Amino acid sequence: MKKKQFKAESKKLLDLMINSIYSNKEIFLRELISNASDAIDKLYYRSLTDRKVKLDKEDFFIKIDLDKENRTLTITDNGCGMNNLELEENLGTIAQSGTLLFREENKKKDMEIIGQFGVGFYSAFMVSDKIKVISKKYGEEKAYIWESEGASGYTIEECQKEQYGTSVIVHLKNDDENEEYSKYLDTFTIEGLVKKYSDYIKYPIKIDIEHKDLKEGSKDEYETHIHEETINSMIPLWKKDKKEVNDEEYERFYMDKFYDYEKPLRIINSKVEGQCSYNALLFIPSKAPFDFYTKDYEKGLELYSNGVLIMEKCGELLPDYFSFVKGIIDTPDVSLNISREILQQNRQVSIIAKNVETKIRKELENMLSESREEYEKFFKIFGMQLKFGIYNGYGVNKDTLKDLIMFYSSTEKKLVTLKEYVSRMKENQEKIYYACGETVDKIDLLPQVEAIKDKGIEILYLTEYVDEFALQVLMEYDKKQFVNISSENIDLETEEEKEELKKNNEDNKEMFSIMKDTLKDQVKDIRFTKRLKNHPVCLTSEGQVSIEMEKVINAMPTDEKVKADTILEINEKHPIVDKLKELYNNDKDELKKYTKILYSQARLIEGLPIDNPTEISNLICEIISGK
Ligand code: ADP
Repeated sequence: MKKKQFKAESKKLLDLMINSIYSNKEIFLRELISNASDAIDKLYYRSLTDRKVKLDKEDFFIKIDLDKENRTLTITDNGCGMNNLELEENLGTIAQSGTLLFREENKKKDMEIIGQFGVGFYSAFMVSDKIKVISKKYGEEKAYIWESEGASGYTIEECQKEQYGTSVIVHLKNDDENEEYSKYLDTFTIEGLVKKYSDYIKYPIKIDIEHKDLKEGSKDEYETHIHEETINSMIPLWKKDKKEVNDEEYERFYMDKFYDYEKPLRIINSKVEGQCSYNALLFIPSKAPFDFYTKDYEKGLELYSNGVLIMEKCGELLPDYFSFVKGIIDTPDVSLNISREILQQNRQVSIIAKNVETKIRKELENMLSESREEYEKFFKIFGMQLKFGIYNGYGVNKDTLKDLIMFYSSTEKKLVTLKEYVSRMKENQEKIYYACGETVDKIDLLPQVEAIKDKGIEILYLTEYVDEFALQVLMEYDKKQFVNISSENIDLETEEEKEELKKNNEDNKEMFSIMKDTLKDQVKDIRFTKRLKNHPVCLTSEGQVSIEMEKVINAMPTDEKVKADTILEINEKHPIVDKLKELYNNDKDELKKYTKILYSQARLIEGLPIDNPTEISNLICEIISGK
């Protein structure tokens, strides 16, 4: 018989399993039971939708058999079964998603890998040195046996099996100093594990239990009887009454089902009856899934119709801005046969989606008002998604989301909401001021920031690239406009000061004209400013596109390129002004050199690159060496 090799990826995963340092080996049982349950789901679904398949829900079962003598644990199901091709395909290769992982081989990470992918069938190799899978596909004649001792490969042969379905026979490893594998041959241990991990499985999980009963007609003589008993309650967790389930059970359910190794931040459980009836069990994760901010991430809730899974990721049930939410919706109002296309227009689905959205929003609002720290933790992970939510669709959802977003505040030194900002605004303050930059520290050092901070005005620091776009879509909060402190219309001076500045600029028109010629199209204008306190120069922008937006848009992989209209502003009170005036009168060539340097400084402060670093470096040397 020819031994076949596992595909390369599978081999690595197997290796990981066999030599696993993952301490939670017991989860293999959950994985095998879950596969059995999925296989029954498939057949049950067919029985509901295909008239040719006549089966009763009551006929389905999962059975666990323990054989101490042969050291085997067998899990049998009467689900859809597999033929030889399917055995080959399903057990010879691991799920596609696994391929992502092995770019970086690191055994210490196996806990995360197992956590994130729930590697399923292969996890049995954590406790086993030999696995046999005997399977017969429903509706087919022949049965096959798949056999493997791990990384060396596997064989598939025809065999005998009466019933359709699958038996997975796990031969347990010998006990060693680290692990007592024999415990998986103990009925009570297995019972405990089934209750812990698989209680909600819809089909009965049966096991033989020995009972010592009094011998008939005798008062002290016992005989052993074997009874088949069902271990699990079979009630899905989301259908159980909230009072009957403790947080730990919900948490474990979440972690097992959605492959997270951290507890969820929030659990939302609701039962709705009326126009549309459903049970919802939703979770807000406490960390982003590894692929959350990639295009591979697919949002959605699991959709069940009366306990039967009809779709694993129903995206229609979740708005994009809440795409991080995981969970389950079970409703009798959606038909089993519903297709993706029909789903989109389904009235029941859209009613549920609307309710789900409100429920999540309320939960977040509660979190924000009642446990600030937790909300900040949440916001640091998923806040970007909410800000995208405001920006997307030209702001159709801005009212839902505007009170959920936060920015770092220059005065509070922490994240604050827009409502909080407005409530603290000074009496004559009419606008909401913000500044953009890569990090809070860098923004704090911007020359423009200093003078405004001095006036005691709170500034919101925008550090994520979506931030300014979101504010532009919002336009205002509580009728207060948002203003970038690097834009021309900051308008903080008194009328008198404005006049004075205007005159000063007018008086030096000629000098600015020479300076402007030096910089050509690089700037739209050069002028004095009062917005700076100690710093000599800054770069500001005029019009719709800010400097930060220019950076963001131009970094995107599209053809769309924009340029902010920039202005080089010079602090009218800085000693450099005297120098410039002196050069204007005595040495215009030197004035040009100074202009170039000042402009480069302003760009560097804004985090923009300079086109001619060598020239600038040489100019600086020339000036400091006085030659
Ligand atoms: P996953 O369950 O995540 O797809 P597994 O490695 O656990 O990954 O299983 C691989 C595939 O093998 C399953 O998708 C399923 O098609 C098949 N399979 C596993 N166990 C059974 C079973 N008891 N009955 C029928 N098919 C099964």
